[in-house]
Amino acid sequence: MEWNKLSISELQIKLRNNELTSEELTISVLKQIKNDEKHLNAFITIMEDYAIKQAKEIDKKLQAGEKLSPLAGIPIAIKDNICVKDFPMTCGSKILESFISPYNATAIKRLLDADAIIIGKTNMDEFAMGSSNENSHFNIVHNPHNLEYVPGGSSGGSAATVSANGAIIALGSETGGSVRQPAAFCGVIGAKPTYGRVSRYGLVAFASSLDQIGTLGRTVHDAALVLQTIAGIDEYDSTSAPVPVDNYLKELNKDIAGLTIGIPKEFFIEGIHKEIREALNNAIEIYKSLGANIIDVSLPHTKYGIPTYCIIAMAEASSNLARYDGVKYGYRTPNAKDLQNMYFKSRSEGFGEEVKRRIMLGTYALSSGYYDAYYLKAQKVRTLIKKDFDIVFEKCDALLAPTTPTPAFKIGEKANNPLEMYLSDILTATVNLSGVPAISIPCGFTKQKLPIGMQIITKHFEEAKMFRIAAAYEQMTKENRNK
Ligand code: GLN
Repeated sequence: MEWNKLSISELQIKLRNNELTSEELTISVLKQIKNDEKHLNAFITIMEDYAIKQAKEIDKKLQAGEKLSPLAGIPIAIKDNICVKDFPMTCGSKILESFISPYNATAIKRLLDADAIIIGKTNMDEFAMGSSNENSHFNIVHNPHNLEYVPGGSSGGSAATVSANGAIIALGSETGGSVRQPAAFCGVIGAKPTYGRVSRYGLVAFASSLDQIGTLGRTVHDAALVLQTIAGIDEYDSTSAPVPVDNYLKELNKDIAGLTIGIPKEFFIEGIHKEIREALNNAIEIYKSLGANIIDVSLPHTKYGIPTYCIIAMAEASSNLARYDGVKYGYRTPNAKDLQNMYFKSRSEGFGEEVKRRIMLGTYALSSGYYDAYYLKAQKVRTLIKKDFDIVFEKCDALLAPTTPTPAFKIGEKANNPLEMYLSDILTATVNLSGVPAISIPCGFTKQKLPIGMQIITKHFEEAKMFRIAAAYEQMTKENRNK
């Protein structure tokens, strides 16, 4: 039996009925990873011995009949920008290549308290900057659906391994779409919570006003369960929200008849791949058949999404990444002439091209004389973008849109064109700017057999509704597949 292919809800029962031990499950996952790593390169660190040791301990608890969390004994992969105590955390960068995390991120602590098994750290674009995983210092990740294609980014390793059954579930992070876009490219679920829903303590900062940890899984239930486990206020992150966490799983099977779903016209612009458009149209029909009211809506400032995102994300990144100076963290050049030269060389040698490009652009946008023209202006446009969402949510429960304008692209296709690469976030970044939650779910394949993703966006802190609407589609399409 290939245990690694099952979902958490299936495994949970088998673990409790003694049909399976967590050790056997962990070994089946590690075996899959070993088979796949040669061609996927989804992991930077595989924590084999640690994972098996953890699993054995959980097995003792299971055998003793202890009342455990539903995540007990379930292997999970973690994006390599989230701290796991005593393990390397590279952030996909040479500058942190030899950095060992001295503490656990709050999300990790909560997973460990729930007895989940951490199996490894996944590959990613350096400092989460990218849409294809081609910016990793640890080489590119390949899309399991077609190895010549990118898995998306920056959580490409997490998406690829979940898709290839190398983890039951994974954590990723989003700043402008880095959970949803790779989820769409690899045909898995990717959930980005409301800004402030999950503590950022122990998540390496890229753009602090946008960053959020998210979950990637093969079923809506699994993504919801893990989000529920890590969500909630945390005294170590003052931006974590003091809003109670709903019971996502309890809401999951409620029907969606009578809910109003808005179709934002700006997300169906020219340039959206024909087969993606068709897949979305089919999904809209499915939602109608489930009793949802479908209405057309408009988010008029969407066209400013990418420029606004780029200025804010790069400005915040330039400030956040100032801490990598060769003194406090990671890589220090071995051949510095003096202190100034040590800073200069450590940063020039330690950071990759894309990170340097963003530090320069961000520093420029924040410099005196340009601050008002760029950063302040971008913040004002951000408010307008957020207002667009507030207005449409007065009349609808959720928005439905494609996650990406195109399916996965070929490795190398956009690597030399940063502007074109930034445009792959055109349908995701406004969601981050406004802070609302969104989930990408698989909605078919192109003729070339590449996955298509659609996203469901809800109001701040309405993750329960978001998961419920996603689950209704998942259930319906599963039934259709089984017919
Ligand atoms: N792809 C986007 C970027 O390059 C988003 C990254 C992210 O969400 N971390 O900035």
